[in-house]
Amino acid sequence: MTEKLTSRFRAVFLREPEFVARAPGRIEFIGNHTDYNGGSVLGAAIDRSVWVALARRQDGIRRFASETHPGIVELPVSAMDRVVGAQSWVNYPLGVLAAMRASGIATPGGFDYMVASNVPSGAGLSSSAAIELSSCLVFLAAAGTSVPRDQLVALGRKAENEFVGVPCGILDQGVSGYGRVDSLVYIDCRGPRFDTVPLPAGSNFWIFNTHSKHALIDGLYAARHQECMEAARVIGVASLVDATPAMLAAAETKLSRTAFKRARHVIDEIARVEQAVTALRAGDLAAVGKLLVASHRSSRTWFENSTPELDFLVDGLESEKGVYGARLTGGGFGGAVMALTTEAFGEPGVKRISDAYLAKFGSRVEVIHARTGDGAALVTRGR
Ligand code: ADP
Ligand code: MG
Repeated sequence: MTEKLTSRFRAVFLREPEFVARAPGRIEFIGNHTDYNGGSVLGAAIDRSVWVALARRQDGIRRFASETHPGIVELPVSAMDRVVGAQSWVNYPLGVLAAMRASGIATPGGFDYMVASNVPSGAGLSSSAAIELSSCLVFLAAAGTSVPRDQLVALGRKAENEFVGVPCGILDQGVSGYGRVDSLVYIDCRGPRFDTVPLPAGSNFWIFNTHSKHALIDGLYAARHQECMEAARVIGVASLVDATPAMLAAAETKLSRTAFKRARHVIDEIARVEQAVTALRAGDLAAVGKLLVASHRSSRTWFENSTPELDFLVDGLESEKGVYGARLTGGGFGGAVMALTTEAFGEPGVKRISDAYLAKFGSRVEVIHARTGDGAALVTRGR
């Protein structure tokens, strides 16, 4: 991909890039709606990335190009307003520059910038975090500076939360930043604190994206958030991470039925993340697979953020050979299912699932095969 990006850079800007960086997409492995409850989450960086190339200019002009968006966006260095309309994708790199500036970090002046990617956009694999982190790495290099990895992750998240305006948690940027081949990234969301946990080689991921999305999704997220906060208040803890199953049972009669159900999911899910870490360290992928399915069932029953489409996919995958387990990945209310599999699961199984899905729902599911990948890195350091 570096070669392809470099030759496109040459074709568009008629010069060589000085810096190239790469950052991977990610999968939410287990830990559903645990982040804002102070819990932990496991994610996987995948072997698909966003790549950014940059060469500095001395005339105070910034030019942005993407292979997926026609045209070049040209802005003076002083222009730091949000872009609206067809070229609003530049808010990702602009947001990173704004976050760097607000954090007192040196930013480059003028430059030519190009992005290329094999992370499908909007498929729940967080192409947005990948473009943020790869952009940040080339900007830092072009400004002759660097930051620790936790700050790189924080800058990407700040760009997305404050400039783009998407209230994502720390999972997306944390996994893109800390990913490692044959590993999962463990995030204790309270720090946040990052760690990696080995994943046995030969583990495969399959993503089944329904491209369905609940019309009221933002309101549903907000309601779930609110219900979790209410449950924590009634139980008498600051966050649900501090509540035990016994505390929940003791508070059951004081809790609304809804708040009880949400808390039940979150408290169990945080425990499942820890159980998954233990099972992974023991190399017991069969146990990990059971936890994935238990997570999905809990989403369906207690958190009520699954859909018939997602349930259908998980049920179908569970009975396929070579599938350890499957669950909805991401916020829910539509979106995608992730399966952890051996090499034994492949195209025949994918076809069975896809055909059955088409027959039942009358629409096609998009299937993406991925393995683990390495986290964000500067690939070319300039001449
Ligand atoms: P996801 O992060 O799940 O892929 P988002 O909606 O959060 O979905 O982010 C997708 C957005 O990120 C795109 O709409 C676009 O603005 C930006 N983006 C992702 N990849 C690219 C790319 N290769 N070129 C330009 N913009 C991109
Ligand atoms: Mg995103």
